[in-house]
Amino acid sequence: MLSQPDQAGFLPLDHMHVLVARLMQLGYQCLGPAVENGAIVMRELDAPDGLPRGLQAEQAPGRYRLTQDPHNRYFAWANGPQAIKPQTFAAKETLWRVERDAAGAQQFAAVKPVVPAQAIIGVRACDLAALALQDAHFLREGRRDRHYAERREQLFLVAVQCAEPAPTCFCASTGDGPTPTAGYDLALAELADGFVAVSGSKKGEAVLDALKLAPATSQQIEAARRQGVSAAASQTRSLPGRTLRDVLMKRLEHPRWDEVAARCLACGNCTAVCPTCFCHAELDEPALDGASSEHARMWDSCFGESHGHLHGFNVRPDIRSRYRQWLTHKLATWHDQFGRSGCVGCGRCIAWCPVGIDLTEEVAALTASEVKP
Ligand code: SF4
Ligand code: SF4
Repeated sequence: MLSQPDQAGFLPLDHMHVLVARLMQLGYQCLGPAVENGAIVMRELDAPDGLPRGLQAEQAPGRYRLTQDPHNRYFAWANGPQAIKPQTFAAKETLWRVERDAAGAQQFAAVKPVVPAQAIIGVRACDLAALALQDAHFLREGRRDRHYAERREQLFLVAVQCAEPAPTCFCASTGDGPTPTAGYDLALAELADGFVAVSGSKKGEAVLDALKLAPATSQQIEAARRQGVSAAASQTRSLPGRTLRDVLMKRLEHPRWDEVAARCLACGNCTAVCPTCFCHAELDEPALDGASSEHARMWDSCFGESHGHLHGFNVRPDIRSRYRQWLTHKLATWHDQFGRSGCVGCGRCIAWCPVGIDLTEEVAALTASEVKP
């Protein structure tokens, strides 16, 4: 169960709005699940009782369809196409602007991001693990990204335990879920009549104290623990429970790369939905009158042809080399950069790949004879 179960409180089901109201009172813009274009995304709640119930989604390779939860729970959905990434690493933003002054000289100015304090309600364990990886990249010593840092500091994270992972999830095998254990301000486990709630930070503790919850009973805490164990056991996909670095790097000429390249459309969907991918492109957008220009960055993908352009040639001219770059960076050389794999087992790249390419299947084929427990 969530960390510090001995200090858990119990939030009755019909009191969820009290938690949201408290966060709103504290000045947080509260984000929760909402349906947009047939998928569950995080959007601003307009009222404390605005959290929807009964949302669920059926997920499979290349498939995501909304369904109705027969138990009408708040958090029966496993995950949608977004994690926390759009809240910290904006899909597109201006970094600096240049304008001509009255004398015709160019004046450069950094653009400060607009950063509301945001509480995100419904964050999953895999999302928290992905956020920790994004922190390692964007907040690394000597190269701290100001835009990311300012947004990150303003977050209040309400995590929830996944009671019903999607068939595409494999966070248990990567060690990142389905029960949140760190990185949250508050964590909730949803039971039939309410939530076992624990805090994971001083900010979270202050919010829980203000709610004056009754302590969770030992039966409720045990039910939440069992729910997490059974959610983990229900996952059918997995990655091998060891570093794949050496074995994948020895397989750079494996024929499987050609097979997967024949199916892959190089659309970049997998990188857009992946909560740990951080590649970006930079572009200048001059005004038509020539008086000013903005320098922006936007998400980019290693599947795009332009991402491999160096001066005068392309280092990844075909889909085979781009898929191989993505998978070997994510699962192999990420270990050299960040000390762990870049995959947190959320399964988004499987569900949102239009042709249903499944990285767990690709890894199994690539490593079949070499990975031992
Ligand atoms: S590689 Fe796929 S399963 Fe792993 S974190 Fe990224 S989207 Fe999730
Ligand atoms: S693996 Fe799938 S989602 Fe990723 S680029 Fe290829 S077709 Fe698109």
